[in-house]
Amino acid sequence: PSLEYELTRRRIQTNIAEIWNYFSSELGKIRKIVGSGNAELEESIQQVLLQGAEHKRSLLSDMEQLRRLDGYEPWRQREANELSDLVQRRLHHLQNPSDCANARKLVCKLNKGCGYGCQLHHVVYCFIVAYATERTLILKSRGWRYHKGGWEEVFRPVSDSCHDAGSSYAYNWPGKANTQVLVLPIIDSLMPRPPYLPLAVPEDLAPRLKRLHGDPIVWWVGQFLKYLLRPQTATRDFLNSGMRKLGWERPIVGVHVRRTDKVGTEAAFHGIEEYMTHVEDYYRTLEINGSSVVRRIFLASDDARVIEEARKSYPQYQIVGDPEVARMAAVSTRYTDTALNGIILDIHLLSMSDYLVCTFSSQVCRVAYEIMQTMYPDAAYRFKSLDDIYYYGGQNPHNRRAVIAHKPRSHEDLQLKVGDLVSVAGNHWDGNSKGKNTRTNQGGLFPSFKVVDKVETAKLPVYAGV
Ligand code: GDP
Repeated sequence: PSLEYELTRRRIQTNIAEIWNYFSSELGKIRKIVGSGNAELEESIQQVLLQGAEHKRSLLSDMEQLRRLDGYEPWRQREANELSDLVQRRLHHLQNPSDCANARKLVCKLNKGCGYGCQLHHVVYCFIVAYATERTLILKSRGWRYHKGGWEEVFRPVSDSCHDAGSSYAYNWPGKANTQVLVLPIIDSLMPRPPYLPLAVPEDLAPRLKRLHGDPIVWWVGQFLKYLLRPQTATRDFLNSGMRKLGWERPIVGVHVRRTDKVGTEAAFHGIEEYMTHVEDYYRTLEINGSSVVRRIFLASDDARVIEEARKSYPQYQIVGDPEVARMAAVSTRYTDTALNGIILDIHLLSMSDYLVCTFSSQVCRVAYEIMQTMYPDAAYRFKSLDDIYYYGGQNPHNRRAVIAHKPRSHEDLQLKVGDLVSVAGNHWDGNSKGKNTRTNQGGLFPSFKVVDKVETAKLPVYAGV
């Protein structure tokens, strides 16, 4: 398929969701104003909302059908496999230098003082820098807060042949080109900041990625996780048996509800019914042509009561999940072997879902979404986030390009000319996004459909011959 065809197809799919976000939110506001004072009008607004929702599901289902039937599916599968194999081979090559003693190395300490998802993102960031600087990544993980024995007892070591930084002096970032061993700080303290940090993807792969994938950076991050999370035998057995015990089966929607220490500090509270509205919508879309699908979710949380509440409130749903795992995820027991098993299993099962409903403010769900990209040629649209759009902690600005001009509707709005670059802060999921026009330096709201993502690229080594 041509790049334009794939971009247009994906743009229609995104904007079907956007136009519905807009109308449903506006109608919801009008219904509130009308209130119970005018029952008849309120009722007809309700009818429009119901029929509109069905119409939206029909359109989304048709887009899915279009993708399956346009004749390019075999190409998408093949291209996804080839690209992934290529990157995996490069990582393997980077991690297994022929002369380990003299190889250039990048030392990264796993034990960032945060949760598992945050630590994984820290390692991915190190790995990206390693890839960009052609340095073998040395992962220091002894005394890991989740497992004292270290990373290598849980996942395969990041190298088969080169584990040690050696005895030469380790310099701090940025060092010099000929510095043999370089130590990397956390992304927030990185100075100077190189241009290849997320959201950039490698320039040599960018043309292929733009055609294949709706959000290339998520695919790119997913490839590092694919390499990093190769399980040790015991971990693999544990994952398989955990899955069997839970009765995990597809189709299934993965739901992640982050509560406890996150609520009120880094994220807002969302009731289970908010998540379930989107789950229900997903299943109704699948059923639009009259088939009937078993209602099943995999529910992961750090609050066991959420699982118990969902089982009570949604008896028509098969709810796969383990309150015991959620109990162990509480802050007081979080950094233990049992809790580590729990979060590895939860992220694994979330990533294997058909669709994710969660809050992207949580790194748990973002990691699951990133890994999910390794399961499909393009799983960029297989999620509903109740809060943030996708981001990578410590990322460079996220730019979108205006493709339709916008005249401000109110003082809250942004003016857009075609071609303007907008640094986006978020999507309000009501048809509007928030951002700053980099041409005018003005901040404000604008209709989400008037911009397209600008895929950032960086010149990186091409690993010729790998
Ligand atoms: P964030 O704080 O949600 O952005 O994600 P982090 O991964 O950095 O830290 C949260 C930590 O809480 C996780 O790493 C887990 O240890 C625990 N946790 C949060 N949600 C879940 C969950 O759904 N299941 C399990 N097993 N643990 C969770």
